[in-house]
Amino acid sequence: MAAAGSSWGRLPGAAQRLLPIASRHDRLPDEPAMLPFGNGRSYGDSCQNDGGVLLKARMLDRYISFDPASGVIDLEAGVLLSEIIDLALPSGWFLPVTPGTRFVTVGGAIANDVHGKNHHRAGSFGNHVLDFELLRSDGSVRRCSPTENSDWFDATIGGLGLTGLIRRARVQLKRVAGPWLIGDSRRFANLREFFAIATESEADWEYTVAWIDCSGTGRRLGRGIFIRGNHASAQAAVDARPPGNGSLRMPFTPPVSAINGLSLTAFNKLYYHRPGAVATDALWHYRPFFYPLDSIHEWNRMYGPDGFYQYQCAVPEAGAEAVLEEMLRRIGESGLGSFLLVLKTFGTVASRGLLSFPRPGATLALDFPNRGARTLALLEALDDLTRSVGGAVYPAKDARMSAAAFQHYFPRWRDFSRFVDPKFTSSFWRRVTETPNA
Ligand SMILES: Cc1cc2nc3c(=O)[nH]c(=O)nc-3n(C[C@H](O)[C@H](O)[C@H](O)COP(=O)(O)OP(=O)(O)OC[C@H]3O[C@@H](n4cnc5c(N)ncnc54)[C@H](O)[C@@H]3O)c2cc1C
Repeated sequence: MAAAGSSWGRLPGAAQRLLPIASRHDRLPDEPAMLPFGNGRSYGDSCQNDGGVLLKARMLDRYISFDPASGVIDLEAGVLLSEIIDLALPSGWFLPVTPGTRFVTVGGAIANDVHGKNHHRAGSFGNHVLDFELLRSDGSVRRCSPTENSDWFDATIGGLGLTGLIRRARVQLKRVAGPWLIGDSRRFANLREFFAIATESEADWEYTVAWIDCSGTGRRLGRGIFIRGNHASAQAAVDARPPGNGSLRMPFTPPVSAINGLSLTAFNKLYYHRPGAVATDALWHYRPFFYPLDSIHEWNRMYGPDGFYQYQCAVPEAGAEAVLEEMLRRIGESGLGSFLLVLKTFGTVASRGLLSFPRPGATLALDFPNRGARTLALLEALDDLTRSVGGAVYPAKDARMSAAAFQHYFPRWRDFSRFVDPKFTSSFWRRVTETPNA
């Protein structure tokens, strides 16, 4: 059963105490093993601290200032991205980078240096952070920016919450005409076509993403739907009506996972063949475009009481097609994959963080219901493939990568270690650095 403070994958396990941070002016508690906790949208154990303390930062939810002329917002780090949109969009400003859920805090977005569908244009979240304040367990506060304490800035962006508590940040938002996006979607038959469309789309389309039919085998392996969009002009959306604010909630946790081979194949086939899969000049409201999963609250419960793993890897462009095909083959053969397999390309805008995950190439993400040793063996095999081409696995989604794999994916981890607060740690960090439990 998932407890308060659990992560999005709801894997059973971590026993930890939650201590709220009520004000950005407070000192940190005197505890030997602490970790900031945002909104628990990380899937695995990078936001978990078994045997230690989670510092609940969500109550740091005050705006300090917002300049509607420049789009600079100054806020506490527990503010959700959804709350920024609610405040700034009416003045014509949007998030410069957004992950696939808007229920993420600013602190969490910085600590995982999150990416979105516009990575090829905008890089990752940290590229748009102007500065932040970092509170350490000794009571000191460091103001960090690309020009002030820049080494701490680079360690904290993508720094997995380990360098201290981010209590306040300034972010540069992006100018938009309104809440609408205009674009198209089309089917592709295999990964070769995916890469061709992705390359052709980069110059003209700000947002690109694809869904892959993970039931596809043989000639159908790697088929999917490619979606691309740009922010629409006010004129293009003049007659458009926003969708209702209604959302569904997964009412209970089924006793066993509702995901199995049959439901999986059926869903993937239906999704691929659905009439709306091909569209031109489609007008999307930002909510269904960026956050389709947010419309079902607590959808993560459908995986049952044992929870699920997410696997997200990035592989360099050279050799990407062959290695991703091999991954899809293995996932298909295992029958252990999930509904939504997302594929997109990462561009060349360099992320700032010492441990940032995005790197040029392609990134693939999908969920796996937790079926114990079988699931872990498959993920290990995917890891071997990722390593064989010099790729990496995303810590924000991970709950099981080995220390050897992590140290291979993130060779700067030793440089990073010297910025870790002596009283901060996480279940993830102890695992990948082979440190005993808190
Ligand atoms: C449906 C869904 C879709 C997603 N899509 C994407 C995607 O497209 N791209 C992507 O990059 N990610 C994606 N994610 C992952 C998610 O964006 C990240 O895991 C994000 O960091 C979660 O933020 P959070 O506020 O929930 O923080 P948590 O998950 O609670 O914590 C994340 C990390 O931030 C640290 N942290 C939190 N607050 C602070 C603070 N104030 N100071 C210092 N450290 C802090 C924690 O210690 C932890 O290491 C998705 C997740 C879901 C559930």
